[in-house]
Amino acid sequence: MPETVAKVAVAAARYWVDRPYDYLIPAELKEKALPGSRVYVPFARGNRRSEGVILAISDHSDYGKLKSITAVLDDKPVLTPDQIKLALFMRERFFCTVFDAVKAMLPAGLWFDNTGRRKVGDKTIEMAKLCLPPEEASAIASNKRLRSSAQANLLEMLCSFESLPSRELLQFSGASRQSLKALQKAGLVELYYREAYRRPEIHLGEIEPPPLLNEEQQKAFEGINALACSGKSGAALLFGITGSGKTSVYIHLIMEQLKRGKSAILLVPEIALTPQMIETFSSHFGDDVAVLHSSLSPGERYDEWKRIKAGKARLTIGTRSAVFSPAENLGIIIIDEEQEETYKSENAPRYNARDIAKYRCAQSGALLLLGSATPDIVSMYMAQSGRYAYFELNNRYNDMLLPEVEIVDMKRELRRGNGGNISSRLREELEKNISRGEQSILFINRRGANKLVSCGECGYTYKCPKCSVSLTYHSNNRRLMCHYCGFSRWVDESCPECGGALNFIGAGTQMIEQELDQIFPGIGVMRMDTDSVAPVGSHEELFERFRRERIPIMVGTQMVTKGLNFENVTLVGVISADQSLYAGNYKAGERSFSLITQVVGRSGRGSKPGRAVIQTYTPENETIKQAARQDYLDFYRSELELRRIQNLPPYTELFAVSASGQVEEHVVSACRYIKAWLDDTAGREGRAVVLGPSPLPVVKVNNRYRYRVTVSAGPGSGIRSLLSQIVIQCSTDKRFSDVAVYADNDPLD
Ligand code: ADP
Ligand code: ZN
Repeated sequence: MPETVAKVAVAAARYWVDRPYDYLIPAELKEKALPGSRVYVPFARGNRRSEGVILAISDHSDYGKLKSITAVLDDKPVLTPDQIKLALFMRERFFCTVFDAVKAMLPAGLWFDNTGRRKVGDKTIEMAKLCLPPEEASAIASNKRLRSSAQANLLEMLCSFESLPSRELLQFSGASRQSLKALQKAGLVELYYREAYRRPEIHLGEIEPPPLLNEEQQKAFEGINALACSGKSGAALLFGITGSGKTSVYIHLIMEQLKRGKSAILLVPEIALTPQMIETFSSHFGDDVAVLHSSLSPGERYDEWKRIKAGKARLTIGTRSAVFSPAENLGIIIIDEEQEETYKSENAPRYNARDIAKYRCAQSGALLLLGSATPDIVSMYMAQSGRYAYFELNNRYNDMLLPEVEIVDMKRELRRGNGGNISSRLREELEKNISRGEQSILFINRRGANKLVSCGECGYTYKCPKCSVSLTYHSNNRRLMCHYCGFSRWVDESCPECGGALNFIGAGTQMIEQELDQIFPGIGVMRMDTDSVAPVGSHEELFERFRRERIPIMVGTQMVTKGLNFENVTLVGVISADQSLYAGNYKAGERSFSLITQVVGRSGRGSKPGRAVIQTYTPENETIKQAARQDYLDFYRSELELRRIQNLPPYTELFAVSASGQVEEHVVSACRYIKAWLDDTAGREGRAVVLGPSPLPVVKVNNRYRYRVTVSAGPGSGIRSLLSQIVIQCSTDKRFSDVAVYADNDPLD
């Protein structure tokens, strides 16, 4: 009885029972039931119908009575053998189910609804082509053996094109659909359907040659390219200061891979940055570029996915999930600004795109290139210790110097009687820029981006009824909203507690906007924050307006820090550098350094030199000083030393086992149990240090309390399997039946 058992990953299987399940393949499904195809199977006691995906076919099973697959959903496998392996890897690595991993890999358009229909259909267009050689067709057309001149026109036109979409054919020939149908009836023309792709709007012009590299770029390119063409998998770090032209190096590297017949993936940290990147890369690669990110419509996303899978687009550009691009025969994966947190997923599967990329490169003998002006400490450590190849770009492309940076002590500013957000130094510099017609960017941390509403009499503030956070006011819909659970409500006329008048404490960006208006009445200010750019994609319009209309000042949150390239911006002001420094996570220093460096790097990118002013209440802080000097290597050395002393990454790996539930005591006792168990196993043997339980920074979200136990462990500790065991134990323990438990590698907050 050869090859009749399918090993299936089942969607309905939760983590603690997730393993490949054996099912019989009925004879009539045998042809379609291949590894990588999705199926329906009866699952568990109730034989509930569940979706699944076939991982392997086998000729035997260790189990007795097997159930049968009820349907095969795909005509062709949707997963390659490599993707199946990747899904299994993800289960081990990120404590998720195989099906969770599979779902992350496939575009939503490929999923099925409850009735087994695909959510997004394939789009086709009608095409027309001649059924006879052009010479004959042309003869028929000119011999006027045809009924109408319209038909003759159609034939003439088809003589000069091999095939044409019917719609265009009719449009250009001016003929009616009946004429075309008549030709079809006469057996002269064939109408057929071709797959069409919904494509996100991309401005396509002439294909431009790649930029000429300067000496330093050329050297980096050659070194990296040699690795990428070696056929061996590996990883490299490109450390290049802001404005050094990493993108130009990427272009050349990708071009070489496409020439070798390979494909490439380029990841960017933010959707807001994709339009810029797409435009740059489309100008060099045309239709070979496909985009994958979450703000495409399901149809577009599905079609881009198909173009890549069919080998029609060999360069995938996108955000985190684009690392699952179905590109085959990979030559290189590039992760730009690789230290960004957006590469880490906070929902199951809790993967980091970097780890996925590394795995995929190993699978296909490709090179993983990490690029950054402020690399992740761990990546730099890997490079310095020789595990990654290492390349540098130490100069800005146009040989401009990095901006001159000045630190302003805001405590002194206060003592001098300036209680505002804009110091006298920053004000002077802004004045200079305004008078010269140059532009400035002011950066304010995201935390200050929202409006709070509080009572002027009793101090009452609106709290989310379901989360332990305050509600913030959104002026575009004039509602109070919770950023964690989405709860929203109207604002009362007066304080609901005491009837006093309510104060609207302005959003950081709005406050700055008002202050600027007082200092420089009538000067144009553009505000960039989540409130001002509701729909995705409108960033780009605003940035474009800023560039075109030379609006003097842009005030923004995080979204103004990365990747932007404005020639005429010569001044950057960091309103307060302190907020992100004390966020309590061990990465806070790294984040602050990176953020300040990035935002300062927006200045002086054109032909004019740039300046930056960093305002802080802690001017003595070493990280701020290092960021002001743009001295990454110095920062790296001191940070690494701190990590060594505290036994943190890269010296150990960090994990969290988190629990959540509606009854706080149950959550805490589950965490205590987890802590004790891990102490007893990994802790006792000295394999790991277990800390906690401690509440998450926002302890209650959506009426669920959240606590966790943190574990740090050295390499080779085998900690992953222990974590997996304890998650499974807690999930099946009746005492904790109302508590959800999951494990996570390198949690974000
Ligand atoms: P980075 O990503 O390293 O901060 P960019 O790739 O954005 O830097 O490059 C900075 C600026 O220099 C851009 O305006 C880019 O067009 C320009 N540039 C970089 N390299 C070249 C090159 N080889 N030829 C022409 N322009 C370049
Ligand atoms: Zn809430």
